Amino acid sequence: MKITVSDIPEDGMEIKLDEQPASEAVKLSGPVAASLRFDKAGADVIVTGTVSADVELNCSRCLNDYKARIDSKVEVTYHPSSGITRDEHHQLKGDELETSYYSDDAIDTDEVLVEQLLLNVPMKPLCSNDCEGICPVCGADRNKNKCSCIVTETDPRLRQLEQLLKKKEQ
Ligand SMILES: [Zn+2]
Ligand SMILES: [Zn+2]
Repeated sequence: MKITVSDIPEDGMEIKLDEQPASEAVKLSGPVAASLRFDKAGADVIVTGTVSADVELNCSRCLNDYKARIDSKVEVTYHPSSGITRDEHHQLKGDELETSYYSDDAIDTDEVLVEQLLLNVPMKPLCSNDCEGICPVCGADRNKNKCSCIVTETDPRLRQLEQLLKKKEQ
C-alpha cells in the first residue's frame, strides 16, 4: 500500500495492515500484521505503531532454519529525500536507525514493514538459548545426535590425543 504524504490529514491517520510484502532480506512464514499511525511534522512523517510477523531465521550455532516471532514497536521518522541518492540513504541509515526517507510524496507500507522487521532480526539468531550447536569434532547436530566426541575448547593437546585415539579405533 502506498501512503500519499500530502493526503495525510493534519490530525494524522491510522491504518491496519495484514499483508505479505515481498522481501529477499527477511524470510516471512506468514503475513505481517501491523497497526501504523502516520503523523505529519512539517515535511517529516512520524510513523508509530506495532508490527508482528512470523519469520524464518537460520540459527547461527546449529545452522538449522527455525521460526521466530517478531513483535515490535514502530517509531520512525520519515524525511523527504529530494536530492539524496540511494547510497547516501544507506550511510545515513547506519548512523540513525530510527530515521528513514520517502520520495515522490509517497511512503510504501511494504518497505516500512520490511525495514522494521529487519531492525528486529537478531544479529546472531539462535533457535533456542540452549542450542547445543554443531560438534566441532564430527560435525553432528548435537541437538539431534548426542555424539560421543569429547570437545575440549581449552586444551588443544587433548583434542590431538582424542583424534589419535579415534584413528586407532578405526
Ligand atoms: Zn540452533
Ligand atoms: Zn561429535
